[in-house]
Amino acid sequence: MPKTTMEEQQAKKRIKNFNEVALGFSEKDALKEAKRCLQCKKAPCVKGCPVAVNIPEFIKLVKEKDFIRAAKIIKETNVLPAVCGRVCPQEGQCEKVCVLGKKDDPCAIGRLERFVADYEREKGETGPKNRPKKKVKIAVIGSGPAGLTAASDLAKLGYKVTIFEALHRPGGVLFYGIPEFRLPKIIVEAEVDYVKSLGVELILNVVVGKTFIFDDLFESGYKAIFIAIGAGLPRFMSIEGENLNGVYSANEFLTRVNLMKAYLFPEYDTPVKKGKRVAVIGGGNVALDSARTALRLGAEKVYLVYRRTENEMPARLEEYEHAKEEGIEFVFLTLPCKITGKDGWVNGIKCIKMKLGEPDDTGRCRPLPINGSEFTHPVDQVIVAIGTGPNPLLTDTVKGLRLNDRGYVKIN
Ligand code: SF4
Repeated sequence: MPKTTMEEQQAKKRIKNFNEVALGFSEKDALKEAKRCLQCKKAPCVKGCPVAVNIPEFIKLVKEKDFIRAAKIIKETNVLPAVCGRVCPQEGQCEKVCVLGKKDDPCAIGRLERFVADYEREKGETGPKNRPKKKVKIAVIGSGPAGLTAASDLAKLGYKVTIFEALHRPGGVLFYGIPEFRLPKIIVEAEVDYVKSLGVELILNVVVGKTFIFDDLFESGYKAIFIAIGAGLPRFMSIEGENLNGVYSANEFLTRVNLMKAYLFPEYDTPVKKGKRVAVIGGGNVALDSARTALRLGAEKVYLVYRRTENEMPARLEEYEHAKEEGIEFVFLTLPCKITGKDGWVNGIKCIKMKLGEPDDTGRCRPLPINGSEFTHPVDQVIVAIGTGPNPLLTDTVKGLRLNDRGYVKIN
């Protein structure tokens, strides 16, 4: 029996709105899919899950139509099931090692997770009562997935936890980075509310490292601090023309649209350029999110320029398929070398064709330029989505903090 399919908005319709693309399982779909699970004794799917959700147990409860208990089983180790059911890359984790996948499609664990999380939310369930209580105060800096998860685990152990968030909405990358059509904001808000229902305090609009420094937290009584600031500093290519008007980092572009609702300008006060011919540079999920967002903002043509081939693209296969259906044009084996402009604004992108060489340190084939293959393509907007790094705003203010050569906190 193949994996149960999930309803989706049709491509022609969805490129004209920001509503969620995938529409989720009905109860009938969930029961059908749950019956495919073999209830393996040494379930490899649990080992494949980064937070070791008891997958066979929650699927068994789905089969028994006990959806609320199924949600509680997931929440024992994952406080963000509706988020993870939508955007977690299950195909590379739990579903990758599912026994069913040896001969057939793996069990649709993510879709089932999403179904029970949505069911529980619609029924208005809240967090567990009668939790242990301790006086020890712990600070968490950042309210993205890591911060919310750490805060919940600590609250369940009885600690008094406060999350400090730099932006005016909690959720970090879940809010500012992932577009509404993949992860609706009401889902993020509901999961943040669940974390608050565990007793976690949330303080917004505080940039630790600017509003106050790290040591101030210790002085005001916090006994431990968890740094969960993610990687919010965009990388650029350092090519000519990157300072032209109409060039955005994916981070800025998506933050304007997702967090600040720039697509509703002037009703909301943040504008964003709505390009007609847009080049997005990169091959990850953020690049695809940017390309699909540009399309929904009204672009006539969106190119995704990637220096390797589709086989090396780090983006999720499902998102790649969705982007192709929507008409994004993929330009593989191509590297931008200059952004051209007129009167201060972007008017084109000069690229060179590439070929694949030997594998590099990451195991992916190294792209090599083909001499004499340069060409220029007319575009009026460029979005750079080639990755991000840690923001030094906080870490620079912490004495004695050991960082690795990429600027991340060293664990050992
Ligand atoms: Fe079910 Fe697959 Fe996990 Fe086995 S590995 S328990 S079939 S989800």
